[in-house]
Amino acid sequence: MTALHASGKPDARLPTFNTVPREFIRKVFVFEEEEKAVKVTVMNPSFGAIFTLIVATLFSPGLCLGLQMKPDVIYASNIRGNVYLFAGPMANCVALMGKDGTLLVDSGEDAAYAEGMQKALNARSSEKPRETRPDPAVRLVLLTHKHFDHVGGNEFFAKKGATIVAQENVRTEMLDGGGVPSDVLPTTSFKEELVLHFADEEVVLQHYDIDGAHTRGDTVVFFRKANILCTGDLFLNGMFPHLDARDGSNVSGIVRSLRRAAALINDQTIVIPGHGAISNKKEMLGYAFLMESLNNTVTGMIDRGMPLEKILVANPAKEFEPYFGTLKLTMFGNDYQSDPDTIVRMIFQCYKGGASSGKTK
Ligand SMILES: [Zn+2]
Repeated sequence: MTALHASGKPDARLPTFNTVPREFIRKVFVFEEEEKAVKVTVMNPSFGAIFTLIVATLFSPGLCLGLQMKPDVIYASNIRGNVYLFAGPMANCVALMGKDGTLLVDSGEDAAYAEGMQKALNARSSEKPRETRPDPAVRLVLLTHKHFDHVGGNEFFAKKGATIVAQENVRTEMLDGGGVPSDVLPTTSFKEELVLHFADEEVVLQHYDIDGAHTRGDTVVFFRKANILCTGDLFLNGMFPHLDARDGSNVSGIVRSLRRAAALINDQTIVIPGHGAISNKKEMLGYAFLMESLNNTVTGMIDRGMPLEKILVANPAKEFEPYFGTLKLTMFGNDYQSDPDTIVRMIFQCYKGGASSGKTK
């Protein structure tokens, strides 16, 4: 699969998505053999179908390592060092385990999933020799943003004593959203940057002072020692971005945020997107580049006075579909896959909805 440049013609210099080199995955994504993987049964009947689906879509044939994930299990896959990935039915959650407890990036979509993650952490801990055994109790939950599939396990972990940390806008946005019990809101917030020292790791949280990207509170989490970056939904591997005018979303903010985040990392960094397969710096920047190109095309059409209907007929996002239309998620039992029409509608609405949704430079 080749990538596109700004005018949509193939350009071999650009990265492609969902095509992380097999060797890279092998090296960094220590899936182990299936029999050695930590499996936890979740007592939620819907998980079987959901998990099978996400595994089938997350790991496209080109990426498949021959790992057959069974339904009804939540895996804590060791990525590098003491960092683990939960590639859930929707959002990716990440755990950093240490002697004094565990830190989690995003809490999953609901309490059942959170409980499954906790069981998988317990199992990961107990497989280690007693002297080096990490404490699986989740002490800190760091939120990448406010969306339900990233914060749904807050209550589960907060009740067990975890502190919920997020950029200050996340708390405000969750309050504005209404209906959120106070005990699941972040209790610790920061403005632009927070550095935590936890489990022998330097954990850097950065929020870029940009007037809206995916939301108004997007945070990237960088494990400096392990060299792993969690992007939240600023980067979706295999999907068009999700934009919502009410959240202040705009593509230019997403692009600028990803470029700022790229300054933190290098070519060896493992990049964990908000959804989709693990990735790297090159692909993350390629995603930003292609989205910038699409955004400029669509906003250019809007500026020339084209109504939405005509833009949809012109179908400017169609040629990007091979790169942004491959990941399928499951939301409340329904498949969700981004498509060219939806992203054009989203860009249109957000561009019309706010002055900050302008073209990227
Ligand atoms: Zn989101």
